[in-house]
Parts: sequence; C-alpha cells; structure tokens
Amino acid sequence: MTKLQHKEGRCAGCGVQLQSEAKEKPGYIPASSLEKEIVVCQRCFRIKNYNEASSVAIDQDDFLRLLGGIAATDSLVVHIVDLFDFEGSIISGLQRFVGSNPVLLVVNKIDLLPRGTNYNRLRNWVQKQAKAAGLRTLDVVLCSAKRNIGFERVIEALAQHRGQRDVYVVGATNVGKSTLINRLIRDYSDLERELTTSRYPGTTLDAVHIPLDDGHDIIDTPGIVYTHRMTELVPRSVLQALLPEKEIKPLVYQLNAGQTLFIGALARFDFIEGERQSFTFYISSGMPVHRTKLERADELYADHKGELLAPPNREQLAELPEWTRHRLTVRRGDEVDVFISGLGWIHVNGQTGALIDVHAPKGVRVLLRDALI
Ligand code: GDP
Repeated sequence: MTKLQHKEGRCAGCGVQLQSEAKEKPGYIPASSLEKEIVVCQRCFRIKNYNEASSVAIDQDDFLRLLGGIAATDSLVVHIVDLFDFEGSIISGLQRFVGSNPVLLVVNKIDLLPRGTNYNRLRNWVQKQAKAAGLRTLDVVLCSAKRNIGFERVIEALAQHRGQRDVYVVGATNVGKSTLINRLIRDYSDLERELTTSRYPGTTLDAVHIPLDDGHDIIDTPGIVYTHRMTELVPRSVLQALLPEKEIKPLVYQLNAGQTLFIGALARFDFIEGERQSFTFYISSGMPVHRTKLERADELYADHKGELLAPPNREQLAELPEWTRHRLTVRRGDEVDVFISGLGWIHVNGQTGALIDVHAPKGVRVLLRDALI
C-alpha cells in the first residue's frame, strides 16, 4: 500500500482524486468522511478492511488510456464478458489496444442458460462471435462467478497461459467482474499477503493487486461504461429488474403479423410481415411482456407508459432517450436472435422469414446475430 497521507483531496491509499458525487466512479467517498484526518476512497477502504474488491467505472477515454498502459507491459489480459449481453459487453478491438499481449476470454453468467445447454456448441459460438468482433483470443473459458460454475477452469487457464506475466482483468460494468474477483480472493488468494494498490501504467488510476496462491498477482481494473447497453441507461432500481438473477425461463409467443409486444416500457417488438410463427424471448423475469395489436401500439404506449407498461416508471422514463426504430429482416432459413443490448434477445427460428421492427431508447445496440441457443 502506498504511504498513508491525505494531500490535496487525494486518497491516502491509492492517490486518486477524491469525490462525493458518484459512487461508481473512482475516488468516491461519502461526504461525511471527508472531515477525517486520513482519508481513503471507499474502494481502498473495502480492500484494506474487508479484503473485497468493488466495482468502479470509467469512461471510454480513460479506459483506452488504461489499455494503452497495459500495452507497454508484458501481461496476460483476461477479458470478462457477460453472456447475457455478449455483443454489448465485448470490448471490440481490445487486441489492438493491448498490443502484443495475449487475451484470455472469460464468459460469465452461464448459469442463466437453460440446463442441458451444449457447452461445446456454446464455446464455438463464442469463438465465432469474438472473431467477428475483431477479438483474437488465446482461449475461451465459460463460467458463472456467482454460482461457482467452471471456476477451476478459470484458474487452470490462468496457470496455463500466464507464464511469468502479470494478469490484468478487464471488462465492461455489470459483467460480474467484482463477483469474479471476490471469488478469486476468497478461494484462490494468498491471504498471508495483503491486497495492495499501485498505479496503472501511464494513468492516474489505481490498480488493485490480488496475490494468488501461486505467488503471482492479478490486477483488477475499473469497468468501462458502454452507453450502448440498456443496463447503463436505467437507474439502479430498474437495473435489478433488467438483470436476470437465475436461469432464464424462455417465453414463447405465437404471433401473427401485425402484433406487437412491449417489454416493460423499455422496448417494443413489432412483427410486421411474415407467416404466423413463434418468437422466444430470453429476458429477465423482472420485465413484464405486454401483447397488443400493432395498430394500437402507439396509442397504448402514449397512454400507459410508466404505468401498465413498466418498469421504468413515468419519472424514470423521462430521464431516458427517446425510442428509435430498427428494421430487421430475417430471411427464410436463418436461425437468428434479435439482440437488444442489456435487455436480452428474441429467438427467431427462420423457418419462414420475418420482417420485424424493434423500438428501443436511442443509442441502445440492436442487431441480428446467429442464434445463441
Ligand atoms: P461488475 O460491475 O462487473 O463488477 O459486476 P458485479 O460483480 O457487481 O455484478 C453485476 C451483477 O451481475 C450483479 O447483480 C451480480 O449479482 C450479477 N452477477 C455476477 N456474476 C453472475 C453470474 O455468474 N450469474 C448471474 N446470474 N449473475 C451474476
């Protein structure tokens, strides 16, 4: 740990500029604690006192600076992505930013998929999607940090690929990075050696070093905030409804063209053209789905958003961007997902083809992808 000294509003632990406005940003400290003689940010406090890493978030520019700093080191980069929001949480072009350092892809939250999921097929899917996103990976590991599934494989892969290198763990916010780090601390950390902080190369940000049993450290990084994810646009109370807690129960809807489904008040799915067919929704059980006729959809939304159609409630909706429309064409024979970043996906079997409109808050990433399941 760096020397304990409170200087010019900086954390005595890691030196980050202190602030009391945003809990999830680096340097946060409750205003009431600022009066103390020696002040450490909340993140350092938790590390020192509870041996616990917590999430902090930074914007894209700071994150790219951080990755640039990693490029100048000899490291293994562990990139955590969220299987529930794969295209939303993958850091495309990561390889370019971290230079010649190898990237190990850890895919978290596999507990959300139905039991009996074919993991070999899933790994192939992940590899293909990662490649399409411009990410070259050394290896892919599937796990659930929360339910402790596949963790030995994470440890094995670290041991196998790290050599004598440092390990940097990078990811977007809400992918489960702190859950994973805390599991590493609990189960695989050398508790004789304390967690420490240092500077990320080339930045003013603090890095948390976690000593592992094998004598090496791994280094946690702040999460990047991607505004193309629904999860980053909504307030905390809505986030809880949006993030599935346990295995997703798919909802199957048989629809005729001219029917609309609302997902809370966060998105709208219009089946515009095509033969009667089924659409399977993989979303959190906290998000109610409401069916109506396409011709009534505008009126229903105008009259009932934030009430019958919720969450979010009316007040929270006022803080969100207006919806934009995405027109998607599923061709006959294409088995695909309509992916809405942070909200989930809708499986279309492609037996007959379909024309679909998705309405979602402006900026949220909406796309068609090869079916995950
Ligand atoms: P961070 O922002 O990346 O550090 O993410 P957190 O560790 O704070 O986790 C974000 C959310 O995802 C929390 O609601 C966690 O409970 C949840 N989460 C983390 N890991 C898993 C997992 O393996 N499965 C499921 N279903 N949820 C998880």
